[in-house]
Amino acid sequence: MHDLQALVNDIQREIANHSKRGKVADYIPQLAVVDPAHFGIAVTTVDGTEYVAGDADVSFSIQSVSKVFTLTLALGMVGDRLWNRVGREPSGSAFNSIVQLELENGKPRNPFINAGAIAVADVLLAGHQPKEAIGEIVRFVRFLADDDSIVIDEHVARSETETGFRNFALAQFMRSFGRLDHPAEHVLGVYFHHCALAMTCRQLSHAGLFLAAGGHNPSTGRTVVSRGRARRINALMLTCGHYDGSGDFAYRVGLPGKSGVGGGIMAVAPGKASIAVWSPGLNENGNSLLGSYALEMMAQRTGWSIFGV
Ligand code: GLU
Repeated sequence: MHDLQALVNDIQREIANHSKRGKVADYIPQLAVVDPAHFGIAVTTVDGTEYVAGDADVSFSIQSVSKVFTLTLALGMVGDRLWNRVGREPSGSAFNSIVQLELENGKPRNPFINAGAIAVADVLLAGHQPKEAIGEIVRFVRFLADDDSIVIDEHVARSETETGFRNFALAQFMRSFGRLDHPAEHVLGVYFHHCALAMTCRQLSHAGLFLAAGGHNPSTGRTVVSRGRARRINALMLTCGHYDGSGDFAYRVGLPGKSGVGGGIMAVAPGKASIAVWSPGLNENGNSLLGSYALEMMAQRTGWSIFGV
């Protein structure tokens, strides 16, 4: 067994020395104020042991990492019918692209690009008011992480509601194709709020544990999804979890992972561990620059890549 505590300490030390830290997302004003010097890492192994270093207990905006949780919830509600609403192919374009949507009749490529996550939010709204759907998501994430202190950062949600013009355009565009059942304002209310969930690396690594352990959370003893569904969610994270950088992430890290513009990444080493990293500066694809690098070191030194040691 590797000395995981020594490894996360090493990674943290190495990252602290980097002067090139990427660029903090500034299109959501509330994210632009985050200090790029932060770095946190948390690893929870399938036996429930935690290894953390750096700012592992500092909350950050998980943004698109939340799309893994909303996808899981929506699959629980409608099962494979979800795939009538959204595809499961990598998009090969930017996370907020509208061009592909037009060519493909308003059906988003996958649940992790913005349009796809907006379609998933629409599914979660069925039979609910936006507030209730948001409450369901928060309860689900608390259940996954086994932590009732997790909340939505209302400042971030408001900041994005005021400036998310592109997401409004995507939603209205999908509605024009008859692909949303609810008003764009309601769907985006749900979407912006789940993106604004504030979590720490430690909480995120707990929340992802069911994906590392075949759908079952060994820390809480609760089954979240079937083994097959966990495997498929992992497949989507591998192929689509890093926008147009998904191929590069698979090449360098070799683990299913989902990134967010807040600089967080949740990665899964199936059968081994759930890993969360946070470094707010992003690379050109909108993925955490040093977070990706930290996971690359992690995968290399543990041999956890799903493609072999
Ligand atoms: N709420 C963000 C947006 O829609 C999420 C983007 C991301 O994390 O990739 O722009």
